[in-house]
Amino acid sequence: MIQDISPDRLNNAFIPVVPDHNDYVLLFDDDGRLFVKILDGKICFTTGKDIPAKETVYLFSVNDTRYFLSTGAEEVTLSGFEYRTIRELRDFSRGTELFAAFTAYHLWKWYAENRYCGKCGGANGFHQAERALQCSRCSHVIYPRINPAVIVGVIKGDSLLITRYRTGYAHNALVAGFTEIGETAEQTVQREVMEETGVRVKNIRYYKSQPWGMAQDLLLGFFCEADGDGEIHMDEQELKYAEWVNRADIVLQPNNLSLTNDMMKHFRDGNLL
Ligand SMILES: [Zn+2]
Repeated sequence: MIQDISPDRLNNAFIPVVPDHNDYVLLFDDDGRLFVKILDGKICFTTGKDIPAKETVYLFSVNDTRYFLSTGAEEVTLSGFEYRTIRELRDFSRGTELFAAFTAYHLWKWYAENRYCGKCGGANGFHQAERALQCSRCSHVIYPRINPAVIVGVIKGDSLLITRYRTGYAHNALVAGFTEIGETAEQTVQREVMEETGVRVKNIRYYKSQPWGMAQDLLLGFFCEADGDGEIHMDEQELKYAEWVNRADIVLQPNNLSLTNDMMKHFRDGNLL
């Protein structure tokens, strides 16, 4: 999965430092596209040398490599570099750098959408001691937003409930959705499976989680079983396909970045019998 970068290691502890010439300084445009070069499937990032001295904020480190975000957008030209969407990076690159790009995007989006205080409308500035923004007027502090969501592998005998979205991602998927106010993750599982497919579920058990910076999510994977005959009534607003697919016939996604794909593979390979 995208976060499996061992032996590399992401260190997300915030430190109030400024970049030097060799640190990565990432530049996003207003649409969230990242200024990169892709060489043989590996993402090359801009460094402190490439980005003129403007305002930056420290993001995280991978091993000893420090990543910063450039927050004072300025036109930069660099041979071989171009702005790429996160979806393009997902399709055309891999490795530790892809996970770093996803995580940086998560933080970029949060910073970009929180320039002003939601409480009093004052300008937010970087908190000096922690990963936070603080209002310059009322001192209100906010922290990065992480959206909990579930991915659900619903099992019926030797089959898994496979879906495809009506729009967006084109490959096979599983039932998924965001946790709503006041519900547990298990209740999200029950509600989302019912809403998308009309199937009632039982024996819900937790499998794994995944940070998915592309959508600011923390994905929680669960397996469960159909309760009853498992007759499908698909939500046609959201899905274009929802079927029970036999273990042997499950077609995986083109790469193994997502928890969804990991779960489909886990079931297909004969686990959870
Ligand atoms: Zn304020």
